[in-house]
Amino acid sequence: MKRIGVLTSGGDSPGMNAAVRAVVRKAIYHDVEVFGIYHGYAGLISGQIKQLNVGSVGDIIHRGGTMLYTARCEEFKTPEGQQKGIEQLKKYGIEGLVVIGGDGSYRGARALTEQGFPCVGVPGTIDNDIPGTDFTIGFDTALNTVIDSIDKIRDTATSHERTYVIEVMGRHAGDIALWSGLSGGAETILIPEENFEMEEIIGRLKRGHDRGKKHSIIILAEGVGSGVEFGKQIQEATNFETRVSVLGHIQRGGSPTAADRVLASRLGARAVELILEGKGGRAVGIKNNQLVDNDIIEVLKQKHTIDPVMYQLSKELSI
Ligand code: ADP
Repeated sequence: MKRIGVLTSGGDSPGMNAAVRAVVRKAIYHDVEVFGIYHGYAGLISGQIKQLNVGSVGDIIHRGGTMLYTARCEEFKTPEGQQKGIEQLKKYGIEGLVVIGGDGSYRGARALTEQGFPCVGVPGTIDNDIPGTDFTIGFDTALNTVIDSIDKIRDTATSHERTYVIEVMGRHAGDIALWSGLSGGAETILIPEENFEMEEIIGRLKRGHDRGKKHSIIILAEGVGSGVEFGKQIQEATNFETRVSVLGHIQRGGSPTAADRVLASRLGARAVELILEGKGGRAVGIKNNQLVDNDIIEVLKQKHTIDPVMYQLSKELSI
């Protein structure tokens, strides 16, 4: 294999740039030419393809977002769209593709592989919701952004003796809420994977108040419901002054943490190794700090789950 391509797709995440850099430099290290495909699968279909050299990925390891841009593309979900993409890749003599993105992007990579074009998936999403890997690129950075916000909100919550509901990202996965809630010392963590009893939350808030607690912090993953609505219910039920903060897209941005840069470098480089070994249809990941690769079809069949031990711990520490 003499030429490979790389693209980023779906929701961006901090550390995608570090992954692109690793793909480009690892390939060049092995005398393989690399082409960047801009704007995800949309750019693949329309041929936004440019050769990248060592310098093209200089000065990006510390930057959030993705220098290749990202996009969503409905046309690529059709076999016709996928064929157009393969034709573009062939035009440039590209023989393998590294796809950095979330599960939607993995479905695109699976489709290309099934049509005979080898792809390897690299998990880039802040949600940490890709099966087969302990961590996804961007999760650690997002988590640190959330913790920074929780700490700041805690200061004002204490001063005003208020209850705060902080809505974080996670439509289907509660990892950001669970990890940030645990590390931010939240009293209550609500995630889409677990049911909750309003009565129990209200009871805990009241007990804390009676004990002289100056504030309460509730972390709610967006998939559970509206933070604003939830805040209203809490205020009505407790009569405690309650405020809501919806953190939104700040969670997607920022300079990647060291952990995300290292993870992205390791996973990006491993993806290139697999492509060069002729192993398409794989998804790279990390398990117990060891690099792994799984069949992308199997990864897409599995359902992401939260760590139940950690969820239990979060409950035990917030009594
Ligand atoms: P993420 O990768 O962050 O989960 P999306 O779910 O939006 O983001 O997916 C990104 C892109 O991947 C989509 O816009 C589409 O082009 C492509 N994609 C998603 N699902 C499929 C599919 N079933 N087949 C082919 N391509 C897909």
